Amino acid sequence: MKLLDGKLASQAIKEELRLLVAQRVAEGKKVPHLAAILIGNNGASATYVSAKVKACEETGFKSTLIKFEESITEHTLLKKIEELNTDPDIDGILVQLPLPAHIAEEKIITAIDPEKDVDGFHPINLGKMVQGQASYIPATPYGIMLLLAHYQLDITGKHAVVIGRSNIVGRPMSILLSGNTQPGNCTVTLCHSKTKDLARHCQEADIIVAALGKAEFLKAEMVKQDAIVIDVGITRVNDASKKSGFRLLGDVAFEAVAKKCEWITPVPGGVGPMTIAALLKNTFHACVKRD
Ligand code: NAD
Repeated sequence: MKLLDGKLASQAIKEELRLLVAQRVAEGKKVPHLAAILIGNNGASATYVSAKVKACEETGFKSTLIKFEESITEHTLLKKIEELNTDPDIDGILVQLPLPAHIAEEKIITAIDPEKDVDGFHPINLGKMVQGQASYIPATPYGIMLLLAHYQLDITGKHAVVIGRSNIVGRPMSILLSGNTQPGNCTVTLCHSKTKDLARHCQEADIIVAALGKAEFLKAEMVKQDAIVIDVGITRVNDASKKSGFRLLGDVAFEAVAKKCEWITPVPGGVGPMTIAALLKNTFHACVKRD
């Protein structure tokens, strides 16, 4: 078993970006500026956003964190997005999901200027991605593609099973893996909550991307010998022995599954840091495009 180390790979990407930003500064050009909107008191969302802001600092990006109470109205949020859309100093906008139930996620995502949509969730960017055009690719699947590229894994012609069909992870992942790109060119099966005999599909997979959000769902008996397993899931489970009071579990029963894998991502330290690296890459490109 070999580890697909997202911490290591993301460090390499961040270092590359740090040098590019330093070069821009030396040339008198503006530094990339990410605006992140955090709503409410969801502990996991707050952790993700602060990790993104910290990564901006490490890489020499500017970042602006905008916090709103859970009770914010849709109208106020839309006004803030419009302000950021027209602010010439802001290159990328991210609205941390999930949103409170009274705010329509689709409306908010669609309000973001597609040129500043560094999360890649806007229908224009998703549409371009489907057609293989240059676009901002959703950060988690993009990060996974960057991780595969970092380890130079040749996945051409392999059978990939993606578990989960969300617009932010599973579905774009299935599209990217099936694209005529390097890495890419997989034959993809997209599984979801209504899939029959999921275990059989998984057993036939050379690559499994588990993105369903159910702790330790993927068991060793569902995985073929020498498979590549990418674990996207993050579930907090209570753990009194930790200072935080919880630990993170992925969608893969890591100990047992790792023994059968050729490559596997850990949780934490796999897809999570790659998601942030991909977000920074999108933000850097948004900045360069606006030169
Ligand atoms: P989601 O809830 O929007 O989607 C889950 C998908 O899994 C659905 O399409 C559903 O059909 C499918 N599913 C649910 N139960 C299933 C089952 N028993 N069998 C087969 N399919 C099933 O979740 P999401 O936003 O795509 O996130 C998935 C997981 O990834 C969550 O744990 C989330 O926290 C994590 N995540 C991690 C990162 C990261 O950076 N590491 C980023 C985004 C999401």
